[in-house]
Amino acid sequence: MNQTVLITGASRGIGRAAAAAFARNGYNVAVNYCKSKEKATDLANELNGYGVMAAAYQADVSDKTAVGEMFGKAEQELGRISVLVNNAGIAEQILFSDITEEKWDRMFAVNVKGAYNCTQAALSSMIHEKYGRIINVSSMWGISGASCEVHYSASKAALIGFTKALAKEVGLSGITVNCIAPGVIGTDMNSAISGEILEELKENTPINRIGTPEDVAAAILFLASDKASFITGQTLSVDGGFIL
Ligand code: NAD
Repeated sequence: MNQTVLITGASRGIGRAAAAAFARNGYNVAVNYCKSKEKATDLANELNGYGVMAAAYQADVSDKTAVGEMFGKAEQELGRISVLVNNAGIAEQILFSDITEEKWDRMFAVNVKGAYNCTQAALSSMIHEKYGRIINVSSMWGISGASCEVHYSASKAALIGFTKALAKEVGLSGITVNCIAPGVIGTDMNSAISGEILEELKENTPINRIGTPEDVAAAILFLASDKASFITGQTLSVDGGFIL
C-alpha cells in the first residue's frame, strides 16, 4: 500500500517540487495550500497522472482548527499520513527596528506555530503506528543569521531547535524528525531580490549556481525514505556549499 505524505505550502516552489518527487516515487500526496486553490488543484490532478492518489487541501497552517480539519479530511481520503513536510513559510526583508509586533507575530505564526500545529495533528497516528517521518524546511539563514531578516532567521533557527528536541522525544516511537536548510533557491520567495544581489549570492556558492526546487525536493525525499532510517535530529544543508 502507498504511503501518504502531507506537504504544506505545496502549490508552488519547493513544496510543489517535493510533491512531484513523492508522487513519482509512489506516495499519495496531500497538497496543502493557503490561497492558491487553482494551482493546488491543478497540481493534484497532475500528480494523479503518476498513478497515485493526490488531492488539494486548504488550510492556513497558523490556524490550529483549520489544520485539524485538513488532516481529518486528508486521512479519510488518502489514508494515514506517515510523512509530514513542514514546508510552508513566509519571508520578509526589513530592518530590525522596523519589524512591528504584528510582523514578528505573523512570521512566527506561519514558520514556527505552523510546524507545531501540523506536527501535533500528524503525531498521534504516527505514534500509534510506530512509524513516521517529519521533515521541517528551515533555512541556511536559521544557521548563520541574515541581516535585515532577524524575524525570519530567528523563526528558522527555532525550527532547528524544534527538530532536535522532538527527535529525542519520538525516536522510540519509530519516528524520525529532520530539517533541511536550503541555500539560495530560485523560487517566488526570492523574486524581489535584484539580479545584482542574486549574482553576488551565486558567487558565494562554490557550486556556482542558484539552487532549484528539485535540488531541495531530492533531499526531502531522501529523509523520508528507508535509506534515512538511522538519521534523526539533523539539519541537512542543501546550499551548494554556500559560504556563510
Ligand atoms: P514560496 O514562497 O514559493 O513557497 C512558500 C509556500 O508557503 C507558498 O506556497 C505559500 O503559499 C505557502 N504559505 C505561506 N504562508 C502559508 C500559510 N499560512 N499556510 C499555508 N501555506 C502557506 O517559496 P519557497 O522557496 O518554495 O519556500 C518553501 C520553504 O523553503 C519556506 O519555508 C522557505 O522559508 C524555505 N526556504 C526557501 C529558500 C529559498 O531560497 N527559496 C531558502 C531557504 C529556505
